[in-house]
Amino acid sequence: MSEDTNDRKLLYTALELIEDSLAGGYRLGRRLPAFAEFDPDALSEASDRPAAAFADSSFVAPVDLPDNDSLAAIAAEAARCRKCRLASGRSRAVSGEGAERPLVLVIGEGPGAEEDRTGRPFVGPAGQLLDKMLAAIGLSRSANTYIANIVKCRPPMNRDPAPDEQAACMAYLDRQIALLRPRAILAAGRIPAQALLSTKEGIGKLRGKLWDYRGVPLVASYHPSALLRNEELKRPAWEDLKLLKTALPDA
Ligand code: SF4
Repeated sequence: MSEDTNDRKLLYTALELIEDSLAGGYRLGRRLPAFAEFDPDALSEASDRPAAAFADSSFVAPVDLPDNDSLAAIAAEAARCRKCRLASGRSRAVSGEGAERPLVLVIGEGPGAEEDRTGRPFVGPAGQLLDKMLAAIGLSRSANTYIANIVKCRPPMNRDPAPDEQAACMAYLDRQIALLRPRAILAAGRIPAQALLSTKEGIGKLRGKLWDYRGVPLVASYHPSALLRNEELKRPAWEDLKLLKTALPDA
């Protein structure tokens, strides 16, 4: 390949990345990679350490729930909430969706363009990939998984939610956790991992370990959109899923 052709390829790749970022990231319009590594048969390789480690732990609800609280009440409050500046740019607040007695609570960062438009969490290519990853360890949002975000309203241009925005919104997530009482939490990406673990460490340092969030096993891993950008992250993400699986009953 000539140097000129190579330079042009690099330029096109850079322009594609910029375009994706401006258009809402890889939540929009990207081809899904083949995820052959997410093979349910490979689960036998997983360690059996974590389930035993958490056998005696007891759940500590992050908040005292208001009387008669419910997921529907939280969704309704978020829909009219104006506690932070993200309210002004949203089309819809995205509270969450899934099974009301979940094995796993997946926590992402915040809605993207598609989520803002549809009112549903993790839709578009990243959401499809998440569904595929969950299915590989026997999970689905219709049967045994709930999906929520740190902030319920879309940050403009898909920027990271600011610390004050995260803090303003956290009460909703705390109530969701107290109602759902999941058996394990998957923090999908750096922002939820840092928020839940109260740290500034990068996701590379936080992943691959089993954490304790108020008595609930927590695994942090890469956001599916990062896997769409970089296929080399698929292998460590699969290791994280296997670790999550071992924290579940009958792993
Ligand atoms: S992000 Fe959360 S705190 Fe901010 S306006 Fe939306 S629901 Fe309210």
